[in-house]
Amino acid sequence: MFMPVGTVASVKGVPQEVLEELGVEILLGNTYHLYLRPGVELIRTLGGLHRFMSWPRAILTDSGGFQVFSLSDLRKVSEEGVTFRSHLDGSSHFFRPESAIQAQIEIGADIIMAFDECTEYPAERERVRGSMELTLRWAERSKMYFEEHKGEVPWRSFRPTQLACPDEASGPTCSEETQALFGIVQGGMDLELRKESAERTRGIGFAGYAIGGLSVGEPRHVTREIVEATVERLPADQPRYLMGVGTPEEIVDYTNLGIDMMDCVLPTRAARHGLLFTSEGKISIKQAQYASDQAPLDPLCGCRVCRRYSRAYLRHLYASNEILAQVLNTIHNLSFYLDTMRAVRHSISLGRGARFLSEVWSRAKP
Ligand SMILES: [Zn+2]
Repeated sequence: MFMPVGTVASVKGVPQEVLEELGVEILLGNTYHLYLRPGVELIRTLGGLHRFMSWPRAILTDSGGFQVFSLSDLRKVSEEGVTFRSHLDGSSHFFRPESAIQAQIEIGADIIMAFDECTEYPAERERVRGSMELTLRWAERSKMYFEEHKGEVPWRSFRPTQLACPDEASGPTCSEETQALFGIVQGGMDLELRKESAERTRGIGFAGYAIGGLSVGEPRHVTREIVEATVERLPADQPRYLMGVGTPEEIVDYTNLGIDMMDCVLPTRAARHGLLFTSEGKISIKQAQYASDQAPLDPLCGCRVCRRYSRAYLRHLYASNEILAQVLNTIHNLSFYLDTMRAVRHSISLGRGARFLSEVWSRAKP
């Protein structure tokens, strides 16, 4: 599955009812952003993120680790945790594994992530090993804290558990219903460290496993090599989540390697810059060649944008800096990604795997 990114409890420009119509089953929220604004205490008292943003389907929150490392100034890492300054107002904050999990419990997503250190690229091997070991110690602390506090998720007191409980004899009782905690594999661009991180993270034991610390500036073939080597060390009967990738071609390719879950800002961020993914390849809608083009953006796309509007109109909206340009472009790009994943799932259900689709993709490209 592909998870659109809703950083601050919003997929920029797209209301929740449209996301539902597009078939979005799960959104990603960023703990770092939600912690700074509006604050986890507020979200908790309002019943958790699902109620706050009126999103009844699934949500995953990241641990805040990646944003701390990529967005904040003056971060200082110690064994205990990381001190960082808010990118909003410069205020100083401290995240430790326990507080990152606590924040995620209060936000109340369905899937939450262990606190990790995203190793910078490039980095010396000893630095990568040290960072990987720190992430493993933080993974243990994340799990320990989660096990002790997983009953505190805000929606447990809001859900009519008696009514929602189908058959207590056949499975876990509703009162045990809580979040799922995933571990994160690190290890930089070092294949041996990645394998070791995967096995030791698995040893700690999580509901699912993520591959973090990729798409941080390394060449694409390196990303793929790391994913391929790591995914085979993770259990195939549990979710395997590749964080922060990629292009439509890449998400098909990674699915083929055994990845189950992906998230990326690419479809939404590119859309806001007029870069659109289509079955005929990428289109930069700002180009003058589309000024009088009456064709739909993608003739093979059935989304509400392609059914109704022409390339000429989309180009005009973009050139006029209209808000609607961002809205329509985002809806199409998300639709294209979700359609791609639907095609992958269909291909897998037919026993053909995602490789079939990869071949179709490469043939369709000019
Ligand atoms: Zn479309």
